Amino acid sequence: MPLLQVRGLHAQYGSTRVLHGVDFEVGQGGITTILGANGAGKTTLLRAMCGMVRTQGEIALGGARIDGKATENIVRLGVAHVPDGRGTFLNFTVEENLRMGAYTRRDREQVQSDYERIYGYFPKLRERRRQQAGTLSGGEQQMLAVSRALMLKPRLLLLDEPSFGLAPLIVQELFEIFRAINRSDGISMLLVEQNAALALRLADHAYLLETGRVVISGTADAIRSDESVRRSYLGY
Ligand code: ATP
Repeated sequence: MPLLQVRGLHAQYGSTRVLHGVDFEVGQGGITTILGANGAGKTTLLRAMCGMVRTQGEIALGGARIDGKATENIVRLGVAHVPDGRGTFLNFTVEENLRMGAYTRRDREQVQSDYERIYGYFPKLRERRRQQAGTLSGGEQQMLAVSRALMLKPRLLLLDEPSFGLAPLIVQELFEIFRAINRSDGISMLLVEQNAALALRLADHAYLLETGRVVISGTADAIRSDESVRRSYLGY
């Protein structure tokens, strides 16, 4: 059974319909990417996974329906969202941001060792742990946003354009860490990206979204060699 299974998902803001019957899956321990141009509905799709927009259709996590649940309850079931624009608390320190990420957890001792594990992935955050989040560089803020989500100990990490606005070397570093986290912690990921080449290197499965509909889906390898994806999204 896939970790996340979505069937016939519709989403709307007021009377504006944005998703029109989308089907997709994230495998247990897998990484799925949703590709698409500006305005295709990628951000809305991620927001739909955590009950932040009005939806119809089925969303099942580990076989249990989560559509219609409140965001807070979805978070408690192990879904962590790293929104676009990062969503760190700028006036709080790095360490305070991480502590807030763990607010749903009761295993206090484990939380302590998770700080260490996260600082292991992101040594710069350890150096800057008493610094206000608002004074970090863009790359460090993205690392903090990801780290805060990891402190939840999620089963599924929702990543909204993590490469946005970052220098290529930082992006490369960040995506290598995503791979390491996926492999060693077994955290599944749903990644939304405009940078298709980057996303297809990390993901095992991909879906191409155009104006709220899936137009192509398959393994990342198959999508990478798809003629129309290559021309429109990979640029070669
Ligand atoms: P981008 O890559 O530019 O962020 P996206 O694929 O993530 O694009 P969405 O942000 O999901 O696309 O937006 C899809 C459509 O929904 C757009 O036409 C957008 O104008 C509309 N939309 C998004 N948020 C709202 C909102 N809060 N109220 C009304 N319409 C919205």
